Amino acid sequence: MPVAKSGKRTARLSLAARAADRGGGIRADVLACFAQDASGLLSPDRLLTVLREAGILPDDPRIAGTTAFLDRARPARATTDPVLLTKEEFAAAIRPNRGIIERAACGELAVPDFPALVADLQRIHQEVRNDRGGAAATYIPQLARVDPDQFAISVCTVDGQRFSVGDAGVNFCLQSVSKTVNYCLTLEEHGPDTVHRHVGREPSGQGFNELTFNKAGLPHNPMINAGAIMSCALIQRELDAADRFDFVAGTWKRLAGGHSVGFNNSVYLSERSTADRNFALGYSMRERGAFPPGTDLLATLEFYIQCCSIEVTAQQLAIAAASLANGGVCPLTEDPVFSAQTVRHCLSLMSSCGMYDFSGEFAFTIGLPAKSGVSGALMLVVPQLMGIAIWSPRLDGHGNSVRGIEVCRRLVDCYNVHTYDLLTGTGAETGKRDPRLKRHQSATEGIVGLCFAASRGDLNEIRRLAACNVPLDAADYDGRTALHLAAAEGHRSTVEFLLSRGVDPRPVDRWGGTPLDDARRSGHQELARLLAEAGKAAEPSTHR
Ligand code: GLU
Repeated sequence: MPVAKSGKRTARLSLAARAADRGGGIRADVLACFAQDASGLLSPDRLLTVLREAGILPDDPRIAGTTAFLDRARPARATTDPVLLTKEEFAAAIRPNRGIIERAACGELAVPDFPALVADLQRIHQEVRNDRGGAAATYIPQLARVDPDQFAISVCTVDGQRFSVGDAGVNFCLQSVSKTVNYCLTLEEHGPDTVHRHVGREPSGQGFNELTFNKAGLPHNPMINAGAIMSCALIQRELDAADRFDFVAGTWKRLAGGHSVGFNNSVYLSERSTADRNFALGYSMRERGAFPPGTDLLATLEFYIQCCSIEVTAQQLAIAAASLANGGVCPLTEDPVFSAQTVRHCLSLMSSCGMYDFSGEFAFTIGLPAKSGVSGALMLVVPQLMGIAIWSPRLDGHGNSVRGIEVCRRLVDCYNVHTYDLLTGTGAETGKRDPRLKRHQSATEGIVGLCFAASRGDLNEIRRLAACNVPLDAADYDGRTALHLAAAEGHRSTVEFLLSRGVDPRPVDRWGGTPLDDARRSGHQELARLLAEAGKAAEPSTHR
């Protein structure tokens, strides 16, 4: 066992691995994240902890090279001594997956403050689990028998940061959530022009399985039953039934990071024996000539029901949702499952039609593309940021998961992820945070921006920052405030504006200086008089 200079035992490493990297190239700030003690040795356990905190889990294929390296480095016999690596050994371990590890260590992933999101999801799960409103679907016994108390929230960001709480490893069937992927598959295969010769793209304003069609005699959109049956008529028509099913299940697997999805045969059988309405929709569409010529209606209906009976876990559904958020590329495997254009079309229809008869209200209050199913599944997409899966079987009168909707509400209450939150921003006024920001980034950026604006006398920018709730008396690391800087540069109207907004006229910087000192030192006598008067009128203060 090699012994490092400190005398502590280090991992056994092959000569080749030692030679692989002499520590060069790995950013110093990254290595500093993992330093164990003053000896300069680094801890693989700490590496895994830092990655986990950033949302990069040990089974992530993007760190497989590193975890395999660390496994080899663990001593063969059980020992209580921590495995520690020299800088060179550590760099060799990181090397195969350097990009993602460096970004995770430096807080540069899609949600930089991932622990804050985790804490919010845990809190929301805790609060919402007490809601026992609604009832599980009973139209088939297999859904009626599911434990209605089960509740999972799972998230995956476009950088593959994952977190789950509750029953996130339990399988449930996709039901109507399957409609999203089937629609994407039709677009990939035929393009939107051909697809929309057979299905519309307007909300129906009717129930999801209503026997109703648009003026052209076509299903209103692909997110309701008639439209989803049409999708099934369009997918891989030349394949036999088994291969068509494998194609769809394989697509879900690719979207979900390469984890195989399941199939619930009893749900399938039960659905098939109670599918009168879906059969009626199918026959009605055939009567109207809506299907492409040569469509085998019964095979299409069976295929539709099979797709509804595919099973996933919330963990898998979150990764699939993240693949949509990421423009069709799975964040964990980088597999380009769908084109960005396909995803754009699908998200557009999820936004307008994905939540049954609640779609308009959902678009108004939540403002994000989503699709729900009668199993209690809800797939939510925050484009370019993350996918969220919520599963809880009790449904409201619209057929949406009661807890699912409540989780969405609470998320949008805390974070500015509603599509049009871009217009209202973040901060105390809205009570919302931006999950894309680094810890403290918003506050720091605001203060830096304010100080710059004050030093330039840019009153418009100062007013804008004030409107965004940046505190006008905030100080930078050196205790310098906007008033110090405006006084030093002689910007009278800025000084007057700040004083009129009630900022402290005598803040003290780290060198003991006040704005009055700045004004005098820079020869702005008039400003100095103004500040002296304001100072007299105010109580003496020691800023910071
Ligand atoms: N299998 C169900 C049906 O076709 C799907 C229902 C749903 O989730 O909306 O009726």
